[in-house]
Amino acid sequence: MNSALLHNGKVVTAAEYNPDVHGNRIYCIDKSCKAPVIYVAGTESSVPYFKTTGKNEESKHTEKCGFYKPLTFEESILKVKEYQAELLEQGIKETVIRLNLNRIDPDYEAKQVEREESEKKTKDPNEIKVKQENATPNSIGSLKAIVKLMTSYEPDILASILISVKGKKIPISEIVISHDKAHELLWADQAIDSLSYFVYGTIEQVFRREKVYYINFNPVRNVLFSLVVFDKYFKHFTYTDEQLIGKNILAWGGLRKNTFQEKNTSEMIIKSNKYIEFLPNSKNKEM
Ligand SMILES: [Zn+2]
Repeated sequence: MNSALLHNGKVVTAAEYNPDVHGNRIYCIDKSCKAPVIYVAGTESSVPYFKTTGKNEESKHTEKCGFYKPLTFEESILKVKEYQAELLEQGIKETVIRLNLNRIDPDYEAKQVEREESEKKTKDPNEIKVKQENATPNSIGSLKAIVKLMTSYEPDILASILISVKGKKIPISEIVISHDKAHELLWADQAIDSLSYFVYGTIEQVFRREKVYYINFNPVRNVLFSLVVFDKYFKHFTYTDEQLIGKNILAWGGLRKNTFQEKNTSEMIIKSNKYIEFLPNSKNKEM
C-alpha cells in the first residue's frame, strides 16, 4: 500500500509519512476495511510502504478490501473508482500518464509514426516494466498496456493516476469504464465529445452484415452496447465469432448514440483487432 488513513481522516502517502507529524494510528484506506497498518521504511532499492502485520485478527485486510488479494481487471476498475474521487480531493500526489494510441489506428499516417519513433527509439510504450517500486509507466501506447497497468499495481497507486490525452488530464477511473456506464454518460451528454473511452464488457453476439459488423455486449442493467466495424476496416478486423463470443474484453474508441426498436443504445466504432484486448482472469460479473 502506498497510502494510509490517519486517525483524523486524512490520507498520507508512505513517502510523506512522518510519525512525529502524523501520529501512529494509521489504517487501511479502504472504507470497508480500515485495518491498522504499519509503516515500512524504504531502502536503497525499495520505496517505503504501508502493510498490515497479519499478527492478529485486527491487522488483516477484510475480504472486500482492495488490498486483500491481487485484483482482476474488473475488480481493479471498481476499487480505483471507489478510491479515486476521495484521494484526489484529499490532494494526494498525482501521477500523469500520457495516452497515445495513434499507432493502432490503420488510418494514422505512417510518416507521423516514424517521426515519433525517431524521437524515442529505445522506448516501446507497449512494454511496461513492472517493478516492485511504484514507478508507473510514463506513457501508454496499446490496450494491452492499459490492462497490464490495471492488473499490476495496487488500487491506491492507480487511483493517483490521471490520463493525459489531447491536452486533457482525466482520472483513470473516468476513462476506463463499463459499457453500461459509458451508455449512461453518453445519453446524459456527460461524455467528452472528442474523447475515446476504454469500455469493457462480455461479448454476446456477432452480426456480420455486408457493410458492417455489430459486436454486441451482454446487456447489463438492460443497456444495449455494440462495437461497430465498417467494411472499410474488415481487413483489419480478423477475429472469428468463436474467438469473440463469450469473452470479456476491453475496447477503445469513440462513443455514439443509436436507437434500435425505439430503445436508446450506444455504439463504439472500432477499426482493427488492436482496438480490443481480451481480459485475463475474467469471470462473469453479477450486476
Ligand atoms: Zn484493507
